[in-house]
This record gives sequence, C-alpha cells and structure tokens, in this order.
Amino acid sequence: MNLTNLSELQNIDSHLDAIRLELKSLHAAMQRDGLVATAEQTLKEQQLIENEAQKTLNRILDDIEKKKIKLAQSDAMLYSGKVQNPKELQDLQLEIDSLQGIIATLEDKQLDQMIKLEDLQAKTAVAKLAFQKAASAFETQKSQAAARIQNLENENALLLKKRDVVLKSIQSQDINLYEQLRKRKNGLAIVSLENDACAACGTQLTPSEKQDIRSSTKLFFCPTCGRILYAK
Ligand SMILES: [Zn+2]
Repeated sequence: MNLTNLSELQNIDSHLDAIRLELKSLHAAMQRDGLVATAEQTLKEQQLIENEAQKTLNRILDDIEKKKIKLAQSDAMLYSGKVQNPKELQDLQLEIDSLQGIIATLEDKQLDQMIKLEDLQAKTAVAKLAFQKAASAFETQKSQAAARIQNLENENALLLKKRDVVLKSIQSQDINLYEQLRKRKNGLAIVSLENDACAACGTQLTPSEKQDIRSSTKLFFCPTCGRILYAK
C-alpha cells in the first residue's frame, strides 16, 4: 500500500506543529520584559535615595549659611562699639564662640554627607547603565523575534497550501483515521520503518511483519505504539 501521501501529510503537519510552538514562545518572548522592569525599578529606588541625600546636604548647607550670617552680625556688633556693657559684651563673645562651634560641626557633617552623596551618585550611574543595557538588549531581542515571526508566518502559509494539495490525493477515510491517531499519539500518526523498527517507539518487527508491511494492501499498525507504519 502506498503511503507516500499520508507520510507527506504527516511531515507537513509536524512542521506546522513545530511552527505553532515556536511562534507561541516568540510571542511570549516579545511580551516578557521582566529584566527591564527590574532594572528600571532598581534605578528609580536608587534615584530616590540619591535625591534624599541631596536634600539632606542642601539642608546642612542652608543651616551653615544661616549660622554664618548670624556670626557675621554678632561679629559686626562686637566691633561696632555700640555695645559697652561688659556683661553684654561677654554674652556676645559667648554667642560667637558657640556659633563657630556649631558651624565647625555642621561643616564636618557637610563633608560626610558629600562623600555619601558621591557614593550614591556612582550607584545611580551603575543602575542607569544596567537599565539602559537591559532595555537595549530587549529591543534587540524583540526585533529579532519579529523577523523570525515573519519568516515562520510565511512558511506557515506555504505549508497550508501544500497541505491542501496533499489532502486531495488521500481518501477521506484515511484522513479521518490519520487525524484520530494524531490526536491520540502526540501529533505523530504515521512513521517510517527504520532498520526494521518503528521509528517512533523502536519496536523491532518480525520478518513476517516486515513482509506484511511491504505486501499488504491494508494499513499496518505498530504492534506496540499503534501508529501506522510504512516502509520507505
Ligand atoms: Zn511503534
């Protein structure tokens, strides 16, 4: 029995199955931007931390500025000659000493905060680079996937046309049997004999079974997996 057309149909259908599977994973790959989202989130968090540190530094600088203005005013007052009372002069001098101490402490804090901020800025730069790299890798991946999808869709259309032609050369009862087997046998209904064994399950055929395959006018089913077997 000549099963060339049925095995041709199987080849086309297996090919179509593979295309469908690949298209599914390509479409999924185009949606999935988990790496980009994670990198973006990390960058945003890092920017927030950096902004907070910058605000803290600004507050310290502001504070220093105010204390310096106050110090300059007290200094001016001390040397203006307007204050004559010794107690008042002493209080003024104490205030100046205190302000100088506060300013020195604030300037230490300013330095610490500047070092901290520099470190945070470096971390933000690293996070930004990581995000840009992830985003551009995803863009590349997407355009490659889009090109592959286009190829597969063209191939799919050609195979469907070929399938229509092949279907016309097969009897409808054989097609029905084939379709039923495809559903039950994981998409593979008909397989060839390879080295006297079923190419799907590997079952070795007896000499009389081999004879049957070649001479019989009926379909031959693999005694183990039940698929249609044909000799090439
Ligand atoms: Zn088998």
